[in-house]
Amino acid sequence: MKYDRAFNFSAGPAMMPEPVLEEIAEEVLNYRGTGMSVMEMSHRSKVFLGIYEEAVADLKELMNIPDNYKVLFVQGGGTVQFAMVPLNLMKNKLACYVETGSWSKKAISEAKKYGEVKIVASSADKNFSYVPDCSNLEIPEDADYVYICENETINGTTFKKLPNTKGKILVSDQSSMFLSKPCKVEDYGLIWAGVQKNVGPAGMAVVIIREDLIGDVPDFCPTYLSYKIHAENDSMYNTPNCWDIYCCGKVFKYLLKLGGLEAVQKMNEEKAKVLYDFLDESKLFTGSVVKEDRSLMNVPFVTGSDEEDAAVVAATKAAGMDNLKGHRSVGGLRASIYNAMPKEGVEALVEFLKDYEAKK
Ligand SMILES: *Cc1c(COP(=O)(O)O)cnc(C)c1O
Repeated sequence: MKYDRAFNFSAGPAMMPEPVLEEIAEEVLNYRGTGMSVMEMSHRSKVFLGIYEEAVADLKELMNIPDNYKVLFVQGGGTVQFAMVPLNLMKNKLACYVETGSWSKKAISEAKKYGEVKIVASSADKNFSYVPDCSNLEIPEDADYVYICENETINGTTFKKLPNTKGKILVSDQSSMFLSKPCKVEDYGLIWAGVQKNVGPAGMAVVIIREDLIGDVPDFCPTYLSYKIHAENDSMYNTPNCWDIYCCGKVFKYLLKLGGLEAVQKMNEEKAKVLYDFLDESKLFTGSVVKEDRSLMNVPFVTGSDEEDAAVVAATKAAGMDNLKGHRSVGGLRASIYNAMPKEGVEALVEFLKDYEAKK
């Protein structure tokens, strides 16, 4: 390999596409004749405003975002959205949450600070190894919204079908599946995604919000946590994370060039199939999630023995495959195979695991 890069199976921060990194490297000292790096550039400069506008336009094209939705870049990573969503949308102080794993649990405990949370479905009974049926949820008449974590990064489950929200606003944390396949934005009131899983450097979230949901926040709400403030100021109320917006913009353009999200989905399905087919055949390794709800992006699996799991993680690392240790809360192994993970990476992993098993 040209740069001797590892196949990095980290759940985040995760791999970025190599051609994007090359472009960034080329521009890092002098961005297109400006004599400075994007890191050093005023966010009010014409050049940076161009970078910002292009990033928004490219994302709108990529996701087919309708005109009545606003794209925001908000700092504070994914976690800040756990608070921003209830702070901005809990008008009646009642929201419905679907509990499918670690990240929805975090969202739930944060929302409880601002109002009442009704857990309308949960997969806690089976260690979050499936997605509960959400076709007929009991949703109170005055509920402000229904919240899901659409792809649970740690537990490895994904919603194949969106919940029936009975007319209420759907809010989705798409952090670990953002731009991995086509998305019908009009099915949602608000989509947000921490960018370090499938797009760019950590520390920022993309928020896609329907315009009629952008309203006033309670007086005590910190200024920075109001979607209205971000919307009115085109994500530049304060100094934005210019570098991150620039990197994300490059990735949007790269995905458009690949053929858009249909093409990306096809690649991701082929890639995930290689690993899941292996797990289904293997006597040593078992996938942790029921087949119907398996994530295309995060694949947790176990051998059944903690010592064996640790031995496999160490062996893969020595072979140039990094970060395969499962999250500390669930153990085992986990391969995160986001957009930027090449198919060869997954093939190399499967070859390695097959070989490991054969030598047992
Ligand atoms: C990583 C992740 C987050 C948190 O993102 P931070 O930027 O670390 O705050 C939230 N939700 C999901 C689904 C994630 O994968």
